[in-house]
Amino acid sequence: MTTLIKNIGEFFTGDLARPVASVKSILIDGGKIVALDPSTDKADTVLDAAGGAVMPGLVDGHVHPMFGEWTPAQDTIGWIGNYLHGGTTSMISAGELHFPGIDYDNLSPELVTSLAVVTAATTGRVRWSGVKLYAGTVLVVAGMTEAHFDRLAAAGVKWVKFLFYPFKDDTTEARNYVTWARARGMRVKVHTGGVSRSGASVVCGYNILSWLQPDIAAHVSGGPIPMSDEDIDLVVDNTNFALEVCSSQNYRSTARLVARLIERNQLDRLTLGTDTPGGTGVIPRGMLRNVLYFASMCNLTAGQAVAVATGNTARAHGVDVGFLEVGRPADIVVCGSITGSAGSTLSDAIAHGDLPGITHILIDGKFVVTDRSQQTPPPTKRAFFCCCSTGQFEARGD
Ligand SMILES: [Zn+2]
Repeated sequence: MTTLIKNIGEFFTGDLARPVASVKSILIDGGKIVALDPSTDKADTVLDAAGGAVMPGLVDGHVHPMFGEWTPAQDTIGWIGNYLHGGTTSMISAGELHFPGIDYDNLSPELVTSLAVVTAATTGRVRWSGVKLYAGTVLVVAGMTEAHFDRLAAAGVKWVKFLFYPFKDDTTEARNYVTWARARGMRVKVHTGGVSRSGASVVCGYNILSWLQPDIAAHVSGGPIPMSDEDIDLVVDNTNFALEVCSSQNYRSTARLVARLIERNQLDRLTLGTDTPGGTGVIPRGMLRNVLYFASMCNLTAGQAVAVATGNTARAHGVDVGFLEVGRPADIVVCGSITGSAGSTLSDAIAHGDLPGITHILIDGKFVVTDRSQQTPPPTKRAFFCCCSTGQFEARGD
């Protein structure tokens, strides 16, 4: 089954090096993008983008899932489906720490390993509302052995997070964890800044990051409490791992971080997440709002902001999504500027900080949102299906 998206007005690549391109149509087959600007205008399904925009599905690099669509953190049902309607097609767990009744003061290696294994085998196994949810991220504690990492690897765990780990003067154990994780193909993320909502994390700034050398420093501008301004500067200047900004941010710290990354020509290190559900809430449009803040207040172009929320974040976490390129999964958001917005094009609207309106979303080439998002107003230029069988085009109905 082939799908063609045609009459595209703005094309966001997800690639920071070349964030926008003048592509007018996308051909999809077998769940993947098989051609940009194909010579054919025939397909089993044809979506006319009506001159609107397409971008890669947003990649939320920091979520806290628990039991599928239920999140005990805010006692909310259906959060993943609502995030999908906010443009998020992939999300990566930063640890499943909201199990009701969990005792943060008495976490054992056996317990944290088991929680990750169970989540990978349950919530992490299913496409909730079609969204690619990568769950089963271990929150390491002191006393773990290489055998725990073997068990995690066997369960398919791909991410290791330092959150509750009590960093001490002797760094040997934590360094071993990083080595053991990487030897098993896992990536390492670390909570940074002040104490988290759990109350059980330790303060983490440049001192720890400089020797731990994770793959991704989580919410460096606050989640919720940022490291000091001086530490943010030191991390930008003296390390080279990925630096994540989350919706749980301190906005002032984010502005400082991003200005320094731009100054140092290091925007490729920037990644995005919401750090929700949690104390910051359930935010279906959270990733879009992060994009708007980057573009309207932190001097990124609209294309750069979208690339940070898609390609940058996917690459840092090692997942094969986030780019509109031939051979990539067809995870695509069809959207545009909303009537009344200061921007007539989507780039313009995003630069003004105005929310995009979404009509259609595809994941692996399958339409998971059609006609309009339940979480955004409709865009002025509304995409529409213009044919139902190969070669049978119809005039626009409305
Ligand atoms: Zn978090």
